[in-house]
Amino acid sequence: MATTAEWICTRCGSTNRTLVPDTATRATDECVTCHTRHALERDARPVRWRARPLGKGKAA
Ligand SMILES: [Zn+2]
Repeated sequence: MATTAEWICTRCGSTNRTLVPDTATRATDECVTCHTRHALERDARPVRWRARPLGKGKAA
């Protein structure tokens, strides 16, 4: 099963959603608005994930 991870872009503040496996605790996704890549971590709350921007050229 997959679950929806919702995260807020740290750069432009847009809300993004991505599908991740139920068992995943982290993921990477790109903001739909400004295309900044973010590393996502599952938070205590089930839906909203913590996001932090990935540095340019860094591997996920
Ligand atoms: Zn953005």
